[in-house]
Amino acid sequence: MATKEEENTVFDVEAANVLAKDLRDVFASGKTRSYEWRISQLKSIVKMCDEHEEDIVDALRQDLSKPQLESIVYELTMVKNSCTLAIKELKRWMMPEKAKTSLTTFPSSAEILSEPLGAVLIISAWNYPFLLSMDPLIGAIAAGNAMVLKPSELAPASSSVLAKLLPEYLDCSSIKVVEGAVSETSALLEQKWDKIFYTGNGRVGRIVMAAAAKHLTPVVLELGGKSPVVVDSGIDIQIATRRIVVGKWGCNNGQACISPDYIITTKDCAEKLVDSLKKELEAFYGKNPLESKDLSRIVNSKHFSRLTKLLDEDKVSRKIVYGGERDEANLRIAPTILLGVPQNSLIMKEEIFGPLLPILTVSKIEDSFDIIKSGTKPLAAYLFTNNKKLKEQFLMSVSAGGVVINDTTLHLAVHSVPFGGVGESGMGSYHGKFSFDAFTHKKAVVYRSFVGDASVRYPPYTLGKLRL
Ligand code: NAD
Repeated sequence: MATKEEENTVFDVEAANVLAKDLRDVFASGKTRSYEWRISQLKSIVKMCDEHEEDIVDALRQDLSKPQLESIVYELTMVKNSCTLAIKELKRWMMPEKAKTSLTTFPSSAEILSEPLGAVLIISAWNYPFLLSMDPLIGAIAAGNAMVLKPSELAPASSSVLAKLLPEYLDCSSIKVVEGAVSETSALLEQKWDKIFYTGNGRVGRIVMAAAAKHLTPVVLELGGKSPVVVDSGIDIQIATRRIVVGKWGCNNGQACISPDYIITTKDCAEKLVDSLKKELEAFYGKNPLESKDLSRIVNSKHFSRLTKLLDEDKVSRKIVYGGERDEANLRIAPTILLGVPQNSLIMKEEIFGPLLPILTVSKIEDSFDIIKSGTKPLAAYLFTNNKKLKEQFLMSVSAGGVVINDTTLHLAVHSVPFGGVGESGMGSYHGKFSFDAFTHKKAVVYRSFVGDASVRYPPYTLGKLRL
């Protein structure tokens, strides 16, 4: 039990300095480098998830009214899957990779050593507060680092569960948790880290990168953006609709970094698509979605007002074709579809990050590419089509962190592909082996012996040597 004085201790720059030094010291001791340490920590995470499933689900319910199934599938199971994969593959990931040498260096051999970076800082966001904290942490552990996690203050119950459970299950001299908001994060950002892994919006991403630049610290920035969905004609509209609905409202009620932000379809398809969306939304969430237990609430009143402001812009509110209801007291907004919103409206200018889904129409589907390219590069882009040529054109002309053809959000669950943004949607990536790599330095090592000491590169330089 913490004493009253300890509870009131402020986490300031001085405290952050002590913590960073402690982590650097523990890393320097070599403790976190061993295979055994890494495996034991990863196994403890699985144990923690199993023994505290209820506490974690309950925290997510308090923070976001997150439905139990979403908490188990998208947070707990994903974390356990990441651990299981790392446990299974760690020996292979840690092994030196043989590399080819050239005639120039003959005789020699070479390899790449995966070296832990040191003491790293992980700053996570509120929307998947357990997954977004634990998934990078798993990468940092697998790679053999010491670390501090700063969960989001906007998901306080999840932050406090992490602060309570991690020291119980993990080596608390090498893995620390600091709870707090801007001032605590700023104090941490003043310190020298060997890597900063940040998840959140681009405005704070810039603050993180500027702080990192002072120490030449590399960063991974997992940011967001407006992820488009292009819907072509000639597809199975019901299947496409269900996949859009589940990617949008079935992922934290649209408060997910890769949830569909807007749809682009042709004028001919729009009506059919809207009808299908309405039908599936009613089948999934009933006639009064504000009361559905299968939809998360909006995280707080600030985000609630931000979303209602987007919806209440005059030229936008006239375009609502489904939903629009809200319940301010309970921070709920119903799934809302808008058809034909102008591109210069607020809702088309910023990442929506909520349950509103605008649909834009174009005369021919290829015109959608220009609309996407007129904005910043999104974190994800989705295309529904049976047309091979359109798929190829889409992949060639649309730059995005990740792409899924004929579904939404699924790339998140494929651990053999990197997850991350490009341009304003972020830099660096993780998941699976990419998480290990994100927290690893690839050290090049070339081996020579004392045999075959070619004299070509030794002075005096003569023309004869050049001709060799
Ligand atoms: P947030 O408010 O939880 O902020 C993220 C972190 O930044 C928190 O830990 C917070 O304490 C810290 N922070 C906030 N202001 C700060 C400041 N001034 N200085 C230092 N630290 C500060 O989360 P958010 O930014 O609202 O998250 C939503 C955004 O994150 C969306 O843009 C979304 O797309 C993106 N996101 C990306 C991913 C991804 O994996 N790429 C995942 C989730 C969310």
